[in-house]
Amino acid sequence: MRLIVSDIPEEGLYNETDLQITVGEDAEKENAHVSINVHKFGKRVLIKGNAGMSSLFMCSRCLKQFYLPLSADFEEEYLPAPEVSGAVEQELTAEELDSGFYSGDEINVEELIREQMLLAVPMKPLCKPDCRGICPKCGKDLNDGSCGCKEDGIDSRLMPLKKIKESFKYRKE
Ligand SMILES: [Zn+2]
Ligand SMILES: [Zn+2]
Repeated sequence: MRLIVSDIPEEGLYNETDLQITVGEDAEKENAHVSINVHKFGKRVLIKGNAGMSSLFMCSRCLKQFYLPLSADFEEEYLPAPEVSGAVEQELTAEELDSGFYSGDEINVEELIREQMLLAVPMKPLCKPDCRGICPKCGKDLNDGSCGCKEDGIDSRLMPLKKIKESFKYRKE
């Protein structure tokens, strides 16, 4: 979806639409439901809205793929891209640093939505908040039940040593 800046009416516009974007690990594009309010102040464009979608991610504990719901409310300001004048680099004002830029009278709304969805992705996606992960020893998915490996994570070859330590502890008491 491309927004043509000169086509934005004075009173602004509202648009509710579905966009196909890629966010997660799935190469397929996924459907994002988007609603935006667009206002223009001179050459400045303000886009307010929200977006929601489900995207395929790998659980950081059990490594299974799952659909993670993502949603975001956003408010983005766009300015026309500064003209590059010769070798002199223009210094950006604080206002410009906070804004997005558009060039050629167009704003790429897909790109905006994709950025917002990426920002909504947690550092470590989990298939469910209490995912038990996989056993580091046998690799079994512990969400399907425990595997019978020792939970203290001590290698069984070290067990005799542990017993000796425990007997020391006993003697002290
Ligand atoms: Zn998981
Ligand atoms: Zn195990």
